[in-house]
Amino acid sequence: MINVKQLSKSFGDNEVLKSIDLEVKDGEVVVIIGPSGSGKSTILRCLNLLEEPTSGEIFFEGQNITAPDSNIDQIRQKMGMVFQSFNLFPHMSVLDNLTITPVKIKKEDATKAKEQAMALLDQVGLKEKADSFPSSLSGGQQQRVAIARALAMNPDVMLFDEPTSALDPEMVGEVLAVMQDLAKKGMTMVVVTHEMGFAKEVADRVIFMADGVIQEEGTPEEIFDHPQNSRTQDFLNKVL
Ligand code: ADP
Ligand code: MG
Repeated sequence: MINVKQLSKSFGDNEVLKSIDLEVKDGEVVVIIGPSGSGKSTILRCLNLLEEPTSGEIFFEGQNITAPDSNIDQIRQKMGMVFQSFNLFPHMSVLDNLTITPVKIKKEDATKAKEQAMALLDQVGLKEKADSFPSSLSGGQQQRVAIARALAMNPDVMLFDEPTSALDPEMVGEVLAVMQDLAKKGMTMVVVTHEMGFAKEVADRVIFMADGVIQEEGTPEEIFDHPQNSRTQDFLNKVL
């Protein structure tokens, strides 16, 4: 589904990503871990072209999205993104947050969009909050709405950048549960997280990044139980 070839990204003379090769298969859950500043967010932001790669190529569903003639808006519609900060539209109800983009941008029928939105709110356990405003919801609820809003665009892949890092500890579980459910349903996901329990349980593949390089990747068992790279071992010793 995604094929990244020799992706490099520099900000000025700071080379943040150094020739990254990465493949994500249809239905796969890839979790990216690594120290702060290692380039995890920059990878995700390059995948949906929120950042322009300095060099390299990214193929999405067989199409070279880094080619000059690629349709960025169309590609972004197929990639849902969930950030650390929930970024809901504060002046709109939960339901309107979910329907506004499908109706305005994808020209979906309003009734149909509303039906789908209610089904998604049900999926994330928040059907009864459809008419509430974001400010009346807890952080965990807001993040679940943000996930439902991304899903309302019918994406082929979901990108998560530390979706639970801004949450109070008691709300982390409810968001991870929604993500796990999504993974079980077969969604292709790339997840940057510090939640090692989630990585162990849900990831098909774990990638350890440091200094803009993929230092090691493998199954959760390989990375957590038998890390080969001393950088991975040091990192895991600190976080586990
Ligand atoms: P991580 O998500 O792993 O913490 P990031 O991808 O956010 O790391 O950042 C990697 C490096 O890139 C950091 O040194 C950061 O300061 C730098 N960086 C990220 N975004 C920008 C930007 N827009 N402009 C300049 N430097 C940036
Ligand atoms: Mg980050």
